[in-house]
Amino acid sequence: MESRPHHLFIVEDDSALRDMVAAYLEKQGLAVTTMTSAEELMRRIHRLRPDLIVLDVGLPGMSGLEACTRLRAEGDRVPIVLLTARSEEVDRIVGLEMGADDYLGKPFSARELLARVRAVLRRADVAPGVPRGEAAPVRIGAHTFAPASRSLHCGNEVRMLSTVEYALLAELVSNPRVVISRERLLAATHGRADAVLLRTIDVAVMRLRKLLEPDPAEPRYIQTVRGIGYMFVPYIEPKA
Ligand code: CA
Repeated sequence: MESRPHHLFIVEDDSALRDMVAAYLEKQGLAVTTMTSAEELMRRIHRLRPDLIVLDVGLPGMSGLEACTRLRAEGDRVPIVLLTARSEEVDRIVGLEMGADDYLGKPFSARELLARVRAVLRRADVAPGVPRGEAAPVRIGAHTFAPASRSLHCGNEVRMLSTVEYALLAELVSNPRVVISRERLLAATHGRADAVLLRTIDVAVMRLRKLLEPDPAEPRYIQTVRGIGYMFVPYIEPKA
């Protein structure tokens, strides 16, 4: 049982949709704070921390995509589910590249949104295949991946990983020297198949390489296996 309900921000300018979604999610036991603009979100998020943000892309003023970009640029890893119109297919891809955790195309049912929200919250809490408290830290070159705190350490530097980065790295390092398909990585990070989401795997790998690899252009630890997927190769220090 959860000790407190998850708290969601719903940022949506369409009042009918916003009220419908908020009423449904509250009925399902979630706590909800509604907002009508990205500006309001950016003002309030520093005072009130949500567990997840449902963020409409098409907002007056600052767009949902821009808000997502800004939050990630500030290092904020709060889970974000984007709401996109059918005509905004490109926004879905851009949104995922900007670090959104998932997206839902309009029109959608409130029940479907709830399923997505629950899936993202589950991922944010525990990564698949890595039971909390059991996963030991893994050394990756100069870095240490600490699954329990979902972070990367390098000397005194600590970098928190996004839910996708974390689930991806956990899946890779728990299968050293095994080629893992992008589809399997997607199942591990998102729990479902979706061609658009495959891009999130490549983007997250790119981010992880920037964090981990001495030379991201010549990856040593997370190697590409062309046409299939990726493989984690633990680096063994050469004996002097
Ligand atoms: Ca809108």
